[in-house]
Amino acid sequence: MDSVEPVSAGIRRVGGQVRAEHHTVGVVRTLPGDVNQLDCACGITLTNGPGWSLDEHLRLHRAEVKYEALLAVAHPGMPLTRTGGRSPGARALDALLAGDTPAARWALTAVDDGARRRLAGAAGDLLALLGTVPTVPTEPADARPAEARPAD
Ligand SMILES: [Zn+2]
Repeated sequence: MDSVEPVSAGIRRVGGQVRAEHHTVGVVRTLPGDVNQLDCACGITLTNGPGWSLDEHLRLHRAEVKYEALLAVAHPGMPLTRTGGRSPGARALDALLAGDTPAARWALTAVDDGARRRLAGAAGDLLALLGTVPTVPTEPADARPAEARPAD
């Protein structure tokens, strides 16, 4: 069967995770210069500024976190209207790493000749880099069972 879920479980979970992990904690700290700060449960400090309120910073922070979380679970070939941080080449590479060649092809459908040349150059550079950086073993260096290894 070749059905597509209307909304994947990963996408569905993102909203709840963001709400659970990014809520304000403590009380607003008022600092000199009309600066107000409030902490998010994730550890960042939200701050107002000369052109934005503390509430606006919180809303943008949550939106930013949610967007990043959605990108992390979205299908790599899904077209985006805002590609900040994810060029067609990056989406194609993500798709190839996931073993999805059709998605990689889809990600590259609107790439013009200049971008195509830059991608080909970058692919060559990537291959060259792979030949020069040291490899990290995929197996643990200490292959003894955990109970036989010294404690950290
Ligand atoms: Zn947060």
